[in-house]
Amino acid sequence: MNKPFRIAMLGKQGAGKGTQCSRISEQFQIPHVSTGDMLRSAVKAGTEFGLRASEFMERGDLVPDEVIIGAVVERLSQDDAVNSGYLLDGFPRTLAQAKALDSAIDQAVKLVINLEVATDVVLERLSSRRVCEGCGRTYSVSNPPTSPWHCDTCGGDVVQRADDKPEAISRRLALYDELTSPLIGWYSEKGILVTVEGSGDLDIVTSNIVKAIHSVEA
Ligand SMILES: [Zn+2]
Repeated sequence: MNKPFRIAMLGKQGAGKGTQCSRISEQFQIPHVSTGDMLRSAVKAGTEFGLRASEFMERGDLVPDEVIIGAVVERLSQDDAVNSGYLLDGFPRTLAQAKALDSAIDQAVKLVINLEVATDVVLERLSSRRVCEGCGRTYSVSNPPTSPWHCDTCGGDVVQRADDKPEAISRRLALYDELTSPLIGWYSEKGILVTVEGSGDLDIVTSNIVKAIHSVEA
């Protein structure tokens, strides 16, 4: 693929999208656009967008399209994304979002990576995840901060997010399957979907994603 690199990464929460997107974003020098991070910082800052979104997130529900699409389109219109491209993490999640994105921006997605991880693997990863309330750094039950449970980076409280509790996880995974299947089908028909197995060694997963990016000719 040539610059601008315009990529979307799909995968269940807990599939490792965040980690892989950080690596790819660094290697290809493209903005990592995470709707989850955008939402959480809006919730924390108490913006109108954040307040609307938080009602849904606390229940483990997806934030409705109209709440999120405006924020994403605005981000993708900024200079860095126009010039270098973007790596979408956690968006689109539904066929309606994908179609809305397609019609709202001129810079269409060139490659969609479907990071595939089995549901039971994801369930175990998510229920052991702990996150710093201060800076967002991620830990797990098996990889705690040096002084439990205060962040090594900023000293903030390290907690289990409300949407990582088992009931919220189960709801989210069921929703994911229901909403993403048509999305995967749609991108597949367009010929821009590549599925990458995401449960193995992190470096191997990264190198398979890099191969997929290099395989795109546009
Ligand atoms: Zn922290």
